[in-house]
Amino acid sequence: MAHPLLLASLAALALLAPYALACALVPFGACTRCHASDPLCRACDGTGRRVRLGRRAWTYLRALHDHATPTNPKEG
Ligand SMILES: [Zn+2]
Repeated sequence: MAHPLLLASLAALALLAPYALACALVPFGACTRCHASDPLCRACDGTGRRVRLGRRAWTYLRALHDHATPTNPKEG
């Protein structure tokens, strides 16, 4: 019989993997505030598309890593 923690980890991976793939391949999702019907929507600037929350988190963490990592002086 499988361990419950292993089953929970596999379930979390099964739920998160498609979302991470969607964030990587299609970083923009539909605007949930205006549903692309308000040209004056401040959340999406009237485009009807917004950056996904997972993509924003990835961009934040990537910038945090880049700022904390010293650059290689040999590369210029
Ligand atoms: Zn909108």
